[in-house]
Amino acid sequence: FLPLGSAREVLRQALDALHAAAGPAAPAVVPMPPLAPFGAAMVAAEGCTLCLACTMVCPTGAFSANPETPQLRFLEDACVQCGLCVATCPERVISLAPRLNFAPEAAQPQVVKQEEPFCCTRCAKPFGTRSTIERVKAKLAGSRHWMFADPARLAVLEMCEDCRASAATLDGIDPYAGPGRPAVRTTEDWLRDAGTTRPEG
Ligand code: SF4
Ligand code: SF4
Repeated sequence: FLPLGSAREVLRQALDALHAAAGPAAPAVVPMPPLAPFGAAMVAAEGCTLCLACTMVCPTGAFSANPETPQLRFLEDACVQCGLCVATCPERVISLAPRLNFAPEAAQPQVVKQEEPFCCTRCAKPFGTRSTIERVKAKLAGSRHWMFADPARLAVLEMCEDCRASAATLDGIDPYAGPGRPAVRTTEDWLRDAGTTRPEG
C-alpha cells in the first residue's frame, strides 16, 4: 500500500483499504457527524431550475454543468461539505448529508437533473431551460407589477436575448407606459409635514 496524492486523497485511500479489509458485510454508506468533510449535497430535483449557480460557487467541482445540454451533475467523492452551494441555491433545494460513501457511483459524476433546452418562441434558437423560464414568469406574474400584467409582456420572456430586444424596440413596448409616479418629496416637504422649518445657517 503506497499512498499517493493530496492529504484528502491519501485519507480516502486509507479509508477504502480499511473498508475493503472489513469484508463484504461492511456497509457501503457510513453516516458522519455534521461538519465532516465527506458527504453528499442532496438536490430535491423537482424544485431545481437548472440555474447552475451551484456549479459556479462549488470550490471542488463536485457540482458541474454539461456544456452540451442543460444538465446538473454531482461527484460525491469531491464534495467537502463546505455548504456554499446550500447558501447560494436560489430555490433552496440543496441539503448536506455528511457521510462516507464507498459505492462506486460516488467516484463518478451522477446526473442530478437534466432537461431539453428551451427554444425561443420567435426564432427557435435554444437559450435556456423550461423550468427557469416558467419560474421567472411565475415570479413576475405574482409580483403584480404593471409591466407584466399584460400576458404579451410575459411572452417576451420566452424569447432569446436578440428577439427580446427586437420585440421591446419594434413591437411598441413602452417601458414608461405605467401608471403615474408619485411626486418627488423634498426635505422641505418633510419639514412642513412635521410642522417645522430648516434651521438657519
Ligand atoms: S458542499 Fe461545497 S464542495 Fe460540496 S457540492 Fe456544495 S459547494 Fe461543492
Ligand atoms: S443552484 Fe439550486 S436551482 Fe440552481 S442548478 Fe443548483 S440545485 Fe438547481
